[in-house]
Amino acid sequence: MTFKELGLSPTVLAAVEEAGYKEPTPIQAQAIPNVLQGRDVLGIAQTGTGKTAGFTLPMIDRLSRGRAKARMPRSLILEPTRELAAQVAESFEVYGKNNKLSMALLIGGVSFAEQDKKLDRGVDVLIATPGRLLDHCERGKVMLNGVQILVIDEADRMLDMGFIPDIENICKRIPFTRQTLFFSATMPPEIQRLSDAFLQNPVRVEVARQSTTAETVIAKLCKSGSKPFEKRETLRSIIRSQDNIKNGIIFCNRKRDVDILARSLKKHGFEAAPLHGDLDQRVRMATLASFKEGRLKFLVASDVAARGLDIPDVSHVFNFDVPTHAEDYVHRIGRTGRAGREGFAFTIATKAEDKYLKAIEDLTKKKIDLADLGSVAVEEEDAKATKPKRERRRKPKEADEAPSEKKAKAPVDETPEEAAPKRTRSRRSKSDEQKPARKGRPNRHTDDDDVIGLGDHVPAFLQRPIPRL
Ligand code: AMP
Repeated sequence: MTFKELGLSPTVLAAVEEAGYKEPTPIQAQAIPNVLQGRDVLGIAQTGTGKTAGFTLPMIDRLSRGRAKARMPRSLILEPTRELAAQVAESFEVYGKNNKLSMALLIGGVSFAEQDKKLDRGVDVLIATPGRLLDHCERGKVMLNGVQILVIDEADRMLDMGFIPDIENICKRIPFTRQTLFFSATMPPEIQRLSDAFLQNPVRVEVARQSTTAETVIAKLCKSGSKPFEKRETLRSIIRSQDNIKNGIIFCNRKRDVDILARSLKKHGFEAAPLHGDLDQRVRMATLASFKEGRLKFLVASDVAARGLDIPDVSHVFNFDVPTHAEDYVHRIGRTGRAGREGFAFTIATKAEDKYLKAIEDLTKKKIDLADLGSVAVEEEDAKATKPKRERRRKPKEADEAPSEKKAKAPVDETPEEAAPKRTRSRRSKSDEQKPARKGRPNRHTDDDDVIGLGDHVPAFLQRPIPRL
């Protein structure tokens, strides 16, 4: 099958050729002719299958005739995350380079003024995350009654992220006569209900869920203690044991751990930055760009933030936590070993995560072998064990407060070694840091001898027993 046989216009075909695609992927082969005919499509496919081009290519052709009116977009693509929205916008630029369609990206974290200006000029394609789009609708800056094509992408992720009420609200504003393209990697009952409500007589196109990992990926397992600091130590040992790391993505199951881990890695001298949904949009974009361009070596990410991101050529993937959904493991591991290249995937597992591990091994039908980290892991353990006792005793408070899951009030629950410099830094006032010690006399209050109350210098009269009257 060739792209030409799918019925795309010469301008779009030229763009496809320039993108270097030789033949359509299965989802493209099934979806494109149906979208071109104006049919509703229910696509069951995940990222990495080429589904973005599956809907953007025929949309470009369908929108090539007609003009957009101010504030009334002609098509709308809803994405669950800002990164995915930005990525679809990039695809539009690539595939639509020979067509003069206008496009606007409405995502949180970007100034309203700039987005308003674009909307005022009229857009053919509006790519948005649900929350920001509704903000614009409520401010009267965008009207959806001119939308002819609606794409709801990654519907199951929308469900996970609690966006379904927003989606329903948005759909109510769009005319019934629209064409709807609905994509989801899975079809749980809630998503089935939505697709029944939103789609009219859809064609169902489906590509088999990926359940295998590439043969070129060497996957290993590393057992670890369950305490967060133990897992961080294990991760560092793995990283140090690898002398061929070009770059790596480190996946955590929770957003909170993404931040903690990125900070801890940085403190230990690794170039790492976090990527998750609570970060400022500009920071997320900048982090992603520096990782893609090779300026940042380690990206610490949550599944949602990393889902669908097209980052070619990652040498290593690390699972800081075993993913609770076995499919996520396949997704994560799919970041490495692409296009026949060799890739490495390390999974850190605690005893409590054994059940998830088993589910992964059942899905992939492959056993993950234990890694042999050689002397590196041992060295780190030894270094800890041989640490002079005095040094440890000097910070009894931090040691007591150190690693406990529950005590996460402070953002980082770190090892004593990780925690100490930060605590002392935060206590020290700026003026203290700037004040030089007077000659021959150190500043009275240093961080190491913080005095609480009267400290050791309790006046003698206070120590005398109180006489009973
Ligand atoms: P997607 O699943 O849409 O996120 O696409 C995943 C990756 O596949 C992107 O890097 C696309 O550029 C690439 N891609 C999409 N369609 C094709 C194709 N027909 N041939 C080769 N690569 C493709």
